[in-house]
Amino acid sequence: MPDYQIKHDRPNCIGCGACAAVAPDYWEMSPVDGKSNLKGSIHIKLESGEDGEQRDIAQAQYTPNKEAADSCPVNVIHLFDKTGKKII
Ligand code: SF4
Repeated sequence: MPDYQIKHDRPNCIGCGACAAVAPDYWEMSPVDGKSNLKGSIHIKLESGEDGEQRDIAQAQYTPNKEAADSCPVNVIHLFDKTGKKII
């Protein structure tokens, strides 16, 4: 069981670049469509039915990704704890 899980509502990313600036080890901007990509993620279907990204992370990887989520102006980076509870 991973410590945390990240879900990226990528279709609603506005490509501001904040996440990649705050946590470049985990987030990068796509040269294809200008949205961000969650490095090392898998593609998933979001509850909305749209395509998103998902990745498990360990405790030591939490802080930069929480900062990335906090920096997102449209709140499309979500973090869940190991019980599945939504943190942001
Ligand atoms: S901070 Fe949010 S809107 Fe900005 S690039 Fe990252 S995911 Fe997209």
